[in-house]
Amino acid sequence: MTLNKDLLARREKAVPRGVATAYPVFAARAENAELWDVEGKRYVDFGGGIAVLNTGHRHPRVIAAVQRQLELYTHTAFQITAYEPYIELAERLNALAPFKGPAKTIFFTTGAEATENAIKIARAATDRSAVIAFTGAFHGRTMLTMAMTGKVLPYKKKFGPMPGEVYHVPFPVASQEVSVQDSLRALDFLFKADVEPTRVAAIILEPVQGEGGFHPAPRELLLALRQICDTHGIVLISDEVQAGFARTGKMFGIEHTGVEPDIITVAKSLAGGFPLSGVIGKAAIMDGAEPGGLGGTYAGSPVAVAAALAVLDVIEDEKLCERANKMGEHIKARLHDMAKRNDIVPIADIRGPGAMIGFDIVKARGGHEPDADATKRVTGAALEKGLILLSCGVYGNTIRILVPLTASDAIVDEGLDIIDQAMVAARL
Ligand code: PMP
Repeated sequence: MTLNKDLLARREKAVPRGVATAYPVFAARAENAELWDVEGKRYVDFGGGIAVLNTGHRHPRVIAAVQRQLELYTHTAFQITAYEPYIELAERLNALAPFKGPAKTIFFTTGAEATENAIKIARAATDRSAVIAFTGAFHGRTMLTMAMTGKVLPYKKKFGPMPGEVYHVPFPVASQEVSVQDSLRALDFLFKADVEPTRVAAIILEPVQGEGGFHPAPRELLLALRQICDTHGIVLISDEVQAGFARTGKMFGIEHTGVEPDIITVAKSLAGGFPLSGVIGKAAIMDGAEPGGLGGTYAGSPVAVAAALAVLDVIEDEKLCERANKMGEHIKARLHDMAKRNDIVPIADIRGPGAMIGFDIVKARGGHEPDADATKRVTGAALEKGLILLSCGVYGNTIRILVPLTASDAIVDEGLDIIDQAMVAARL
């Protein structure tokens, strides 16, 4: 039998440490919300491949669609010979996205490519250069998206200098004592100190911050940003790479606020485990770039597009938005019950729309002081007990739940039981 420890030793020799892996466990196979490692140990998967598996591992309809596509063609390069499924997926996303007028969609491969291209499109459409993002944001690891990401460690350390013209304002998080007013004041200072609003191409934010700690963007913030963008001709970008595709109980996270963005970036759960990303936006903005300025050899891979078409069918037919809301209520109720107990590590701020749920592990009951060490003990104990559980957050003390929306109630409860036991085990 192949052992995890042997693979770990080979990995350490063959793969640089820069790509960190959360756990010393190597996958052998996976189905829906379960994963088995090479030693045959079974795990409940609350990580969902970092928000990629809203429809679960290997959803039968996704796999069937991919298999059908494999028999036809796997790659032509859209720039050479286009294909209908790409156009069909664009049409479906244009219809689903919350734009009042006509929309257009272009596909790429990774989330970072989507956010980076969203900025290229906004720059081309406005003939401006500056970009404003938020602290705690995560938009990717390429040069420009790394600059837009609002967290130095581990994403920016040693990689500078950053591309110019990217500015940050504080993201409002009540438990970190940053209000919407604080954010808007900082934006005002930025416009006075560093860049005039008429030079800003885009403001980009996540409707629910993912890596930054599962903090929903307050509706008042989005309303104010919409107004500022309208006043100054700035493109408002909603980065839905993590929050999209039913996770929050709506197809797109920004729909919770009723605010219409100008551009939406998508990836991850769009294609249920296949690499695909996209930029959806108002048609006039999307057409700002010149022909040939956008694209990529593999961008909009036919295999991934086939998977995405099946994912959209599954979200609709299995009513995954409703499922996210119901599942999320159940998860939150159980977490609130756990929070009352004294035999677990102190937890705070159970939050998030739909099934995009996070909570903080803190030093003392009733407080907000982060406890990153206890958080590591919780995820470590969960792994030992058979649950893949991810942390996140600027302070490394948020537990995030990204269980497939297709998971059964029994599997969700099994995972929650393990969280309960892990939080007991993690007390010192
Ligand atoms: N934007 C957001 C909101 C993300 O959560 C991520 C990935 N965690 C990205 C962009 C980058 O996606 P990728 O890793 O596919 O480049």
